[in-house]
Amino acid sequence: MSIQSNIQDIRTRLEAACQRSNRDPNQVRLVAVSKTKPASQIEEAARAGQQLFGESYVQEFTDKREQVRLPVTWHFIGHLQSNKVKYLRGNVSMIHSVDRLSLAQEIDRQWQKIGETVDILLQVNLADEESKSGATEEAAEDLARRLATLPHLRLRGLMTLPPYCDNPEDVRPYFAQLRHLSERIAALNLPDVHMTELSMGMSHDFEVAVEEGATMVRIGTAIFGEREYP
Ligand SMILES: *Cc1c(COP(=O)(O)O)cnc(C)c1O
Repeated sequence: MSIQSNIQDIRTRLEAACQRSNRDPNQVRLVAVSKTKPASQIEEAARAGQQLFGESYVQEFTDKREQVRLPVTWHFIGHLQSNKVKYLRGNVSMIHSVDRLSLAQEIDRQWQKIGETVDILLQVNLADEESKSGATEEAAEDLARRLATLPHLRLRGLMTLPPYCDNPEDVRPYFAQLRHLSERIAALNLPDVHMTELSMGMSHDFEVAVEEGATMVRIGTAIFGEREYP
C-alpha cells in the first residue's frame, strides 16, 4: 500500500466514524505522525494532500524540518525536556505534550522571545502508567489554572496516550474520561483557555476515539508503515 492510499483509507474510515457519531468530519484533524520516517515520505504524504505532521524527537525534527521542501505544519507530540524547548521555538504551531508547570514556563519564556504565542495541550496520563508521561487526572485542573496565567501560550485542550489494548473497545472508557475531564476544566472558565481540542486516538484505535469526541487523531503506522525503532 502506498502512503497516498493509506491516507485515503484513513480519511474514509474517519468520515465513517464521524457519521456513526453524528459529527462533522471537518471537526477532526488528521495528524500524520512521521517520527523515524524520512523527509521523502513526509513529502510524499504532503503531495497526497496531508498538511499536518506530528514529530516526537527534537533533534530528528530539527533535521527533517530543514529537509522538507513543501509547506507543511508541524505539531510536537513527544516527551519534551525543558532544555530542548528552544529548538522548537517558532517552528511548531502546537505542542501536545505539556505535562508540568516547569515545562510550560520554559515554553512561555521561549515564545516570549519571539513575541508570539503557541497553542498547547495538557497531556494527561489517565491510567497512571509509570512508563508514560502526562499529568495525573487529579493534578490536571490545578495545572490548567497555572497554565492560564502564562501569556505566551494558549491552552487549547487535552491529549492522552491511553494503555494499549488489543481490542480498541477496551480503550473507549479512557477516551470518554478525557472528554469529561476537558469539560470540567472548561467549566472553570479560565481566562484565554478554550478547551476545544481532544488529541486522542492512534492507528489501531482512532475510530473509537472519534466516536468519543477526538478533534485530532495522531496516526503513524497506518500511514507510513511499521517503525524500525519506537
Ligand atoms: C508514535 C506516536 C503516535 C502514533 O502511533 P501509531 O500507533 O504509529 O499510529 C501517536 N501519538 C504519540 C504521542 C506517539 O508518540
